[in-house]
Amino acid sequence: MRKMIIAGNWKMNKDIKETFDFLLPLKNNLIGQNLNVEVVVCPPFTSLFIASDILRETNIKIGAQNMFYEVEGAYTGEISPKMLKSVRCEYVILGHSERRRYFGETDEIVNKKVKKAIEFGLKPIVCVGETLEERESGETFKVLEKQIKGVLEGLTYEQMRNVIIAYEPVWAIGTGRNATPDQAQEAQRFIRELVAGLFNDGIAQNLTIQYGGSVTPENAYSLLSQPDVDGALVGGASLKVDAFLKIIKAGETASVEKKN
Ligand code: PEP
Repeated sequence: MRKMIIAGNWKMNKDIKETFDFLLPLKNNLIGQNLNVEVVVCPPFTSLFIASDILRETNIKIGAQNMFYEVEGAYTGEISPKMLKSVRCEYVILGHSERRRYFGETDEIVNKKVKKAIEFGLKPIVCVGETLEERESGETFKVLEKQIKGVLEGLTYEQMRNVIIAYEPVWAIGTGRNATPDQAQEAQRFIRELVAGLFNDGIAQNLTIQYGGSVTPENAYSLLSQPDVDGALVGGASLKVDAFLKIIKAGETASVEKKN
């Protein structure tokens, strides 16, 4: 059974006070609940330490939004997997479309980061997704195939057990225009079949594939109840506790239904 993961990507939002103001009520709401879904929050680097302190002894996990593929050295402005581990990060988002677009990240760079993250015991949430232009010209599957092959290049079966894929159509991120449940399901089934071909069926069946792109409390359940949608990577709606809690609840309902 695949684990459903609901992760909040705060992007470049929330200072220390705002981190407290969000995490304390989140923690109080979820405390003592035995959830089927894994809840992950991904604050900016400056809030990671305090976030992991607030969430100590809870089931809420911490993720970073990026990392570099070297461990230490003369890389001004970069953060290493070793540093992320030292603040008790368990996850790291890699290859987000904003990283690709504004910071020139390629599949090759993401692939190096994925390998280094796993080496340090971090679980990479690896983002892939087509642009609107690519979708409209019928290239969605071609683009997804190229990205998946690129970011997973050279991974062993063992390493693959730690990977999470986030299907994030670029046209749906921050636009208020989510993929329909059918579009998400179609793309995510394609990714699973591709992974089965590249590795094996067991790895593909165990792979958590999240959907990301304008997930809200209103559309979360219909997306998360699709057979190949195993969670959500949530941007905007993860910044408000109430909205994020509703999405977690939708994930919990969908997860329990899929189990039965
Ligand atoms: C994201 O940043 O990964 C994302 C999906 O953003 P939003 O939910 O705001 O579209």
